[in-house]
Amino acid sequence: MNALAHLFKNNRLWATSLTETEPDFFTKLAQQQAPDSLWIGCSDSRVPANQIVGLLPGELFVHRNVANLVIHSDMNCLSVLQYAVDVLKIKHIIVCGHYGCGGVKAAIDCRPHGLIDNWLRHVRDIYLQYKEDLDRKADETERLDRLCELNVRQQVVNVGNTTIVQDAWARNQSVTVHGWIYSVADGLLKDLGLSVSAENAVFDLWPAT
Ligand SMILES: [Zn+2]
Repeated sequence: MNALAHLFKNNRLWATSLTETEPDFFTKLAQQQAPDSLWIGCSDSRVPANQIVGLLPGELFVHRNVANLVIHSDMNCLSVLQYAVDVLKIKHIIVCGHYGCGGVKAAIDCRPHGLIDNWLRHVRDIYLQYKEDLDRKADETERLDRLCELNVRQQVVNVGNTTIVQDAWARNQSVTVHGWIYSVADGLLKDLGLSVSAENAVFDLWPAT
């Protein structure tokens, strides 16, 4: 017996339930996608992009990786970003971190984790920049949560500094970059108030005060 047969069963039920309420749902979706937002989030299974913001297939363009990082040499993320901005003409880019992020925790726990440590060095760099402040927090959870927020902030700055977004702003294309954080403990999102829609505003975001 197929160990994953239940997933196919779930899939048939899901597709049927969607077409029951809107018979041509998939027919229309097959013609085109027109999402107005790009979501850049963590790969963590507890943070499923569409579900937590209540959006259907076709309504959100998504890129996820460990610790929701936007690295200037990551062709995967940059390709998603370019397609979203240049082709789909999305209006919003949401960088969404989450409290209790295992990637962020691993970045500062001083144990080797193999290859992924090279990826997580980007988070460790943020930790080192704010070490004095972060180490002052006696509570480990509080320290980790603050680093998760600083990580979102850095990634919003990184998105704003890409040639893709800067070029969009230069041609007056409306694109706003947002920084959000999600709590796996209560299922709620928080806007970190980092929204930027122009190059000058990006400079104001870093370093954090
Ligand atoms: Zn995570």
